[in-house]
Formats: sequence, C-alpha cells, structure tokens
Amino acid sequence: MKKIVIAIDGHSSCGKSTMAKELAKQIGYTYIDSGAMYRAVTLFCLQNGLFVNNLLNEEYLRREIANISITFVNNPLTGKADTCLNGRNVEKEIRTMAVAEKVSPVAAIGFVREALVRQQQALGTGKGIVMDGRDIGTVVFPDAELKIFVTASPEIRAQRRLAELTAKGESATFEAVIHNLAERDRIDSTRKDGPLKQAADAIVLDNSNLTIAEQNQQMLALFNKKM
Ligand code: C5P
Repeated sequence: MKKIVIAIDGHSSCGKSTMAKELAKQIGYTYIDSGAMYRAVTLFCLQNGLFVNNLLNEEYLRREIANISITFVNNPLTGKADTCLNGRNVEKEIRTMAVAEKVSPVAAIGFVREALVRQQQALGTGKGIVMDGRDIGTVVFPDAELKIFVTASPEIRAQRRLAELTAKGESATFEAVIHNLAERDRIDSTRKDGPLKQAADAIVLDNSNLTIAEQNQQMLALFNKKM
C-alpha cells in the first residue's frame, strides 16, 4: 500500500508524542520526535558552557552546528527510539527541566532550524513516517498527506507533564511546570522562523477530555479515512 507522511503539531506537552508513537506502531510507520532534536542541540549548548549569564554564545553554536550529530537508536528495553548526541545516548538528559527551560530560545535561532529542518526532511524522503513537532505541517512537510494539530487545556497539559517528571524522579512544582509550558508556547508561537502554527489544512484534535485509548482510536480513524 502507498505510504504517506503524517505531520503532528501542537502545543507543549499536549500528548503529541504519545499519540504519534502509538499511531506509528499500529500502522508500521517510523516515528520521529523532532522536539528531541532541538532538545539535543540545547543539551550540547549546556554541556559546552554556551550559556553565560543566561545568554547563549550563538557564534560558537553557529560554528559547531554542522558537527552536531543527532541520531536515533532503538532501545530494546522500551521498544522505543532513544536520542543520541554525537553518538552518546542522551534520552534521559534531554527530558530534564534544565533542558526544557532553555530549549525554546535555542529552537528560535534561524540557523539551528535550518540545519534540523534539513535533517528532518531527509528522514522523510521514503515516506511512511509520523513526525511530531511545531512546524512539521507548515515548514518541514507542507505537502504531508495527513496533518493533525493537537491541543489541550494548559492545566491538563501541566498536570500530565508534572506526572511524567515525577515518575522519572525529578522534583518540580505545578507552578514551575505550567509557567515553563506557557513560556515555551509563547516563544514557539512568536518566533520568526517556523513558528508554532496550525496548518490551514490540519485537523484539530483537542484531547483534554480523552483517555489515551480514545485518542489513539481517533488518530487511527483519521489515518484510515485518509487512506
Ligand atoms: O516536543 P518537545 O516539547 O519535546 O519540544 C521541545 C521544544 O523544541 C519545543 O518547546 C520547541 O521550542 C522546540 N521545537 C521546535 N520545533 C519542532 C519541535 C520542537 O521548535 N518541530
């Protein structure tokens, strides 16, 4: 059967990756987490001391960006793809609050987006992929056959994110998490390059009141309808 590209965009922590991952598994497609790539570049900046007094040394990053390699490797324990930065598995480190607090300013830099969008487009040349992010349906794959824009209320998103962090043993407060999500959404929606925006031809899915099983069902139904 002909394979398509599925673009899933939406606000921070609205469950995009959970939905995208499950859909990819059910239909035998490859799942790509584009946010993990921006998080890996941010971790690179933190590890190399590129933030001084909260200001990023953009010139250093510009020189290094071509040497930053981001790959995905299957984790046999979880059955999911882990993110590697220059060959080292950084899946756990990129999910911390330290990275979440710095990722949106890094993702707003034009040359960072240019480099990562190019890699994302290369990953999609064979089709048969589900990619989630902020600009997948608008910039990375404007011709994607199926585009879904996911949203949920800010309180529900913060509760879900807090539960995720707590389960991983990271301590954070509800206030810190909801503030971080609002701030990331603000920076992501107002940046010049590849802002978070619903594509004109995207289908909106609000999962505030859906169980995981219900949202998975809806995603599969959208895919089947498209095919
Ligand atoms: O999806 P996730 O929350 O892991 O993404 C982390 C951050 O990466 C987002 O807050 C956003 O700043 C950035 N991002 C982006 N474009 C994408 C995916 C993520 O700017 N396609």
